[in-house]
Amino acid sequence: MAGIEVEVRCTGCDYSDEHETPTADYVLENDVLHSLDWRFAWCVAERRLVSAEKLPDLEELAARVAELEAPGEDEIDLDTGLPIARARLLEIARVTLAWRRKRTIPERCLRCGETSLLPMDSWQYKDVAHPGCAAEGTLSTDGGMFLSEGPDEANPQFTPEGERLP
Ligand SMILES: [Zn+2]
Ligand SMILES: [Zn+2]
Repeated sequence: MAGIEVEVRCTGCDYSDEHETPTADYVLENDVLHSLDWRFAWCVAERRLVSAEKLPDLEELAARVAELEAPGEDEIDLDTGLPIARARLLEIARVTLAWRRKRTIPERCLRCGETSLLPMDSWQYKDVAHPGCAAEGTLSTDGGMFLSEGPDEANPQFTPEGERLP
């Protein structure tokens, strides 16, 4: 299992936190796993920097289905070098698109599940204001990729509505 871990500090007040985001998957219909995309956000309920879901773009998913419905060749699996049957790719793309269309709950905090979030896309490159900070400080992050000890450890899994599975 891999992921990102960061330390976050405020330049104005004494807020500091440690933060880890594992690589995770949604479990969709027909055994389709869709990798969970995320971004940093400020969780209003927890008053801390968290990672939150970043739902895929509906138009991009629809374009992927259209691309696979047109005639073409099988694609190569980058891990095994073997072709992946186009029919299976199309099934995966359709299941993913149907999920995204049905998904009604907004993007959630991956820690507590709340949806009241202030997104922070720019964490890596420039500091962002610390929401509600009396000292008007900015959040500064430091960190990078991690790889856990057990390479065979499964990724955390989430339901289509963004709830973590046990
Ligand atoms: Zn602060
Ligand atoms: Zn939260």
